[in-house]
Amino acid sequence: MIKNIAVLTSGGDAPGMNAAIRSVVRCGISMGWNTFGVRNGFKGLINGQFEALGTRDVGGILQTGGTMLGSARCEEFKTLEGRELAMRNLYQKGVDALVVIGGNGSQTGAHELSKLGFPVVGVASTIDNDLVGSDITIGVDTALNIALEAIDRLKVTASSHQRAFIVEVMGRNCGYLALMAGLAGGAEAITLPEIKTDPEGIAAKLRQSYDHGKYHALIVAAEGAEYNAEALTEFFNEHKERLGFSVRSTTLGHVQRGGSPGASDRILASKLGKGAVDAIAREEFGVLVGLKNNTVSTTPYEEITGKTKELDKELFELARILD
Ligand code: ATP
Repeated sequence: MIKNIAVLTSGGDAPGMNAAIRSVVRCGISMGWNTFGVRNGFKGLINGQFEALGTRDVGGILQTGGTMLGSARCEEFKTLEGRELAMRNLYQKGVDALVVIGGNGSQTGAHELSKLGFPVVGVASTIDNDLVGSDITIGVDTALNIALEAIDRLKVTASSHQRAFIVEVMGRNCGYLALMAGLAGGAEAITLPEIKTDPEGIAAKLRQSYDHGKYHALIVAAEGAEYNAEALTEFFNEHKERLGFSVRSTTLGHVQRGGSPGASDRILASKLGKGAVDAIAREEFGVLVGLKNNTVSTTPYEEITGKTKELDKELFELARILD
């Protein structure tokens, strides 16, 4: 029978993680369980950084970005010794089940822990949206809106100065965020890790638009693309004379992460937090809780770890038609 659960956030922070913590804690308490927070992700598990969390302890965090529990990348957890130490601490604290809120790497770590026999449930949270097992993950929508706001602003200045702008968005090796930002922002070109980029083709396209009287352009580059902002800027600058125009580049970087979560992420995080508590109550462990076909669902870790969600190539084609 479940008495005590613990929750942690791991990997890159994502807007909405706090809403997920709040949901896990309050839904857990509503089941009559004691709830603990673990500081700094897997590092805190190894160091035994547990704290009891009551209903009021998670008050006032729903609207804040980041994570109240802190997050960390922890190399030690990748070793068996590290994970065994973590498990010993969990048993010592009397924790019956652990909720891991995080992205691909974090869920791989959670899977490793569950393979040792500890009851774990994951909650899909990363701005990269690269997790198989959830159509959308906590943080994506807010990060996308932040990127979009920057793109809209840069478009204004690009058209005032007759320039081409390159905006680099995050997403690691997954082009989802860049593709959606490019599609929603009306970018002239998008570079992605999943699709080969021909920089000459982009240049020719900009040139053609210029000849037709369009004196500004915006390119969205994914950080993981071969032609990210740096590589594309270098290409344009190298061939400046021949191409006939110069570019400016902006890397949004961590600005994308820190914002206050929007309504979608708050609601998604609240639902998935409850989904994790429900899975624990059913004693369904070693699974990731995500949203599939608009329904809170669980997927066994075996089916998701080591995989990356595929890009929707049709949306890339659509962006090409619309630009
Ligand atoms: P995001 O992609 O949103 O930044 P993430 O969860 O993918 O988040 P990672 O840095 O990839 O972030 O992973 C977070 C942590 O998960 C790592 O620092 C490590 O502690 C743990 N982890 C990752 N891979 C493994 C693994 N194979 N075995 C054990 N632990 C792992």
